Amino acid sequence: MAVATTPTLLLGSGPSMVPEPVLAALAEPTMGHLEPRFVAVMDDVAALLRRAFGTENRVTLPISGTGSAGMEAMVANFVAPGDRVVCGVHGVFGERMADELARHGAEVVRVEAEWGRAIEPERLIAAARDGLDAMVVVHGETSTGVAQPLDGLADACREHDALLLVDCVTSLTGHPLRIDESGIDVAFSGSQKCLNCPPGLAPLTAGPRAVAKLQSRAEPVPSWYFDLSMVLGYWRADGGARAYHHTAPTNMVAALRAALRLALDEEPMAARWARHARAHAALLAAVGTFGFARLAPAADALAPLLCATVPAGVDAEALRIALLTDHGIEVAAGIGPLKGRVLRFGVMGAGARQEPQAALVTALATVLGAEPRPALDALEAGWSVSA
Ligand SMILES: *Cc1c(COP(=O)(O)O)cnc(C)c1O
Repeated sequence: MAVATTPTLLLGSGPSMVPEPVLAALAEPTMGHLEPRFVAVMDDVAALLRRAFGTENRVTLPISGTGSAGMEAMVANFVAPGDRVVCGVHGVFGERMADELARHGAEVVRVEAEWGRAIEPERLIAAARDGLDAMVVVHGETSTGVAQPLDGLADACREHDALLLVDCVTSLTGHPLRIDESGIDVAFSGSQKCLNCPPGLAPLTAGPRAVAKLQSRAEPVPSWYFDLSMVLGYWRADGGARAYHHTAPTNMVAALRAALRLALDEEPMAARWARHARAHAALLAAVGTFGFARLAPAADALAPLLCATVPAGVDAEALRIALLTDHGIEVAAGIGPLKGRVLRFGVMGAGARQEPQAALVTALATVLGAEPRPALDALEAGWSVSA
């Protein structure tokens, strides 16, 4: 029997708010993973993902697993043991990537920046001068709320016949990014950030240069589960007969289709990016009235994630817990060196709207014992700025 529960308002680092049509798609009767009706869903998802990524790549599919499964699939398939890989590290997810690369036997050349700042692309390009097989950057660093500029990175990689690999888990559809225009060879994301689907799938796209490297590998891909040469026998990009590899999570794929349709049909992509930027600015203005300050400078800010230092004298963890237990609103704590210093507010898809933000701002005022009016006015003003 269904139990009525009040949903948590998810305004943290993910999972994000899941709209009703996506939950409804998830609850549809389970399909077989090889039946024609499901094959049609797969084809739709691949086409919708190409639009979301801004790519023509034939190899575009959701990997079965969370965002980190996308990372593991990317590294296992497109980095070979002994490869020299330049890796940008400016937060938790850059660290995770460097760890993943080392575990796959890569020679990792770290290029770091202070947490809360982007890495100057010139420094990544300089690190590529001595030769490299791949460069990896986190486009949206969710631990700090920083967007990484990609200028010149693709050219620097091509000069050495190296691949440009990107983590766009948090940025996909929430921050300007076009895979083909930026010359990105492989990118992966997650279903539960700006796409507003439950966690469990990792959209991934790989271009022709990456696929050629995969096909010319001397040794088999070290991961059986994520070996794309086998996975693609099922997620056929060539229209051929599909062979069983692993049982696709069919309900999740159906939910992802619903989420992608919602995301792509409600507004053009440029308008979606602009809405995320406006929602971010409006929320920053509102929480600024309580004394929160964004960690990242404006030029480095990642639209879907506002990472803000807490007002002086405020216990970040106590505030986060009060929001969750007394108001049913989830925001994310700081992680790594930022633990206790910041709170992280998600501005993702359906969460990048005035109404949920007003609920958050009102709850924050209550917990902080502040007047909500100035913050709500700032939010309103932020939303009335024309795009
Ligand atoms: C959330 C996130 C991941 C990991 O995704 P999981 O779904 O937690 O495995 C990787 N990179 C970035 C930038 C993220 O925000």
